[in-house]
Amino acid sequence: MKPDRICAACGAVFIPLVHVPNQRYCSLAACQLARRRAWQHERLRTDPDYRANQAKAQAAWRARHPGYSRHYRETHPACLDRNRAMQRTRNARRNAQPVAKMDTCSPFQPLASGFYLLCDALEASIAKMNAWTVHIAVLSAPRPLPA
Ligand SMILES: [Zn+2]
Repeated sequence: MKPDRICAACGAVFIPLVHVPNQRYCSLAACQLARRRAWQHERLRTDPDYRANQAKAQAAWRARHPGYSRHYRETHPACLDRNRAMQRTRNARRNAQPVAKMDTCSPFQPLASGFYLLCDALEASIAKMNAWTVHIAVLSAPRPLPA
């Protein structure tokens, strides 16, 4: 008797397929779609080659279908409104973050080693800005100023 499992997407109890011993999602089409989306989301997050390849394929598709985005926006006004609202939220969140963090740090807080987004300060207020992901390893830090 195979043990029952709980689907990671819908939460329903299911019996895993014999040839898929580590099955975590049931066989429902919606749950298999969720499984593939989760896989792709994780892959895009962790695999720079996969991410670059996807971006290249999407750019090639857009080049073959030049009017698609414009037509989609014209025929789906609700999506357009939603995208604009979400962009406003992202802009507000980004603009709320200080550019020069040292002014807001009190008491003195040294920069920690880690991954940071590096961008041109003059481009920072523009919607589409280029940012590099950089790793900063702090070798020494300045001493705090006396109060
Ligand atoms: Zn399911």
